Amino acid sequence: MTRIVVLTGAGISAESGVPTFRGPDGLWEGHRIEDVATPDAYEADPGTVLAFYDARRRALASVAPNAAHRALARLEDAIGPELLVVTQNVDDLHERAGTGNLVHMHGELRRALCGWCGARPAWDGDLIDRPPCPECGERMLRPDVVWFGEMPYDLDRIERAVVACDVFASIGTSGAVYPAAAYAALAASFGARTVELNLEPSDALVPFDDARAGPATELVPAWVEEMLAVCT
Ligand code: NAD
Repeated sequence: MTRIVVLTGAGISAESGVPTFRGPDGLWEGHRIEDVATPDAYEADPGTVLAFYDARRRALASVAPNAAHRALARLEDAIGPELLVVTQNVDDLHERAGTGNLVHMHGELRRALCGWCGARPAWDGDLIDRPPCPECGERMLRPDVVWFGEMPYDLDRIERAVVACDVFASIGTSGAVYPAAAYAALAASFGARTVELNLEPSDALVPFDDARAGPATELVPAWVEEMLAVCT
């Protein structure tokens, strides 16, 4: 039995046409990160922030999972809950590819979060017009996306899986956002073999046992084939 934790970041969705967090210009879809991904930004200018995430949510309709998302779903088909995918992505491409054992640690575009009652309803429409919360009726819905300075979701569950895994794979993430950036080092300290699959090597806290550079759609299916040979 090989327990595997896969951490994914924006790079796994890049070839599906979802831009990464820090584009070559240092911006996220033309915006400074501090203008759209902090609680202060939302308080100062909620309209801009809501419109930004409404646009990201609408854009999901025109993208599809790629070979990397599909390969991870194949791995889960083969080994079941021994694989946990932890994603920093707010898109829905892992679940659309078929991954079920999935944690969205930074939230989901296709959910809203009620600032009044804390409900997290599934949400496919816009939020800019301040629709009422389906639970409490208050008009305080915001995107269910974890902003800088907020607590990511399911940290206990993730850390339990990270310390118990045999293989930890980091895919398409720059390693700049904590606590996710510390998970590879944590897994290594508990004896896991660590692998990085990324367009270019990231600034890792501790070197990976195996660091492969290239596009996710090539590296991930090849790595999954290796895992299937070992695990099944
Ligand atoms: P990041 O933008 O900081 O880093 C992306 C990484 O992916 C880089 O290291 C880059 O070299 C690599 N990469 C780019 N194209 C690749 C490809 N084709 N194949 C393999 N690797 C590739 O992203 P991050 O580390 O995930 O940053 C975290 C934050 O970004 C999260 O909080 C997340 O919510 C947010 N974000 C999510 C999405 C999404 O849901 N798809 C998109 C943009 C930003």
